[in-house]
Amino acid sequence: MEHLRSRCRGLTNIELIDIPNEMRTFYADAEGIPQYINLMEAAQRKAARGNLPVTDQTMVAIASKSVLAASDFDTATEKWDELPDSAKTWAAWKAHYNAAHDAHERKLLAAPDASQFGGANAATHQRGNQSTGGRVGFSNGAPPSGDFMNQFDGYMDNLANAATNEKAVLERLSKSIADLTEANSKLVSSNIDLADTNAKLTSDLRKLREQLNAANKRPSPNRRPDFVTHTRNNPNGWIIGAYCFSHGFGCTKDHDSKSCRRRVDNHQETATRANTMNGSNENKGWDD
Ligand SMILES: [Zn+2]
Repeated sequence: MEHLRSRCRGLTNIELIDIPNEMRTFYADAEGIPQYINLMEAAQRKAARGNLPVTDQTMVAIASKSVLAASDFDTATEKWDELPDSAKTWAAWKAHYNAAHDAHERKLLAAPDASQFGGANAATHQRGNQSTGGRVGFSNGAPPSGDFMNQFDGYMDNLANAATNEKAVLERLSKSIADLTEANSKLVSSNIDLADTNAKLTSDLRKLREQLNAANKRPSPNRRPDFVTHTRNNPNGWIIGAYCFSHGFGCTKDHDSKSCRRRVDNHQETATRANTMNGSNENKGWDD
């Protein structure tokens, strides 16, 4: 049982699935079929508590392989093999081999030295040595160590704890995934709202632009046809290219250096844009 004891602490997930393998060693440790069945069913119950159930089908498979490998109950095993698969339930296995066990015990009581089971090992080497009490000797015939069940309980409790911890982790993961899914769903919904808003704004903007274009095409009541252009930079109706030494680049019709009526002191009548003669730079660039 040393391997069990050493594995009682800190079981990994991989070890969790080893319960059926551990069960295969029970037969060698058990004193007889009834105790073997008890060991198997105790393990099955503990495994179920750890959320790693061992099915009855697996129980039958392990038990059948164990008795076959030990060459115990060969006659009973032959009869078992003849049964249809549907009849090979765990309940049937127990009844079948308990009966074989009982029959063997009666035979030993009647003739204590006649025969001794115990797997190949006992059958070849230790016949007669273990017949006391008439038990079917499994493997070496020694009864399981006194603290076997304690060790086994600890082992299975650890399995159950490990499985519970894993379950807690899975539950936290599931919760996180659910939260993320919900958050994502909210983002998608919010994104759809934003797309709707954007479409509406785009539509509004297009309407405004159309209204603006229509308004610009309408003749302005203030527009004076002589003026070359009215732009956002030219609300005063300045003439493109015009220049006045005293007033700079923003000049209305009939206003230039020569015609200026509000001149500065050193006003130069011949000043133009091409040669400002150091005149005013006011509004320079408005019609660039
Ligand atoms: Zn002027």
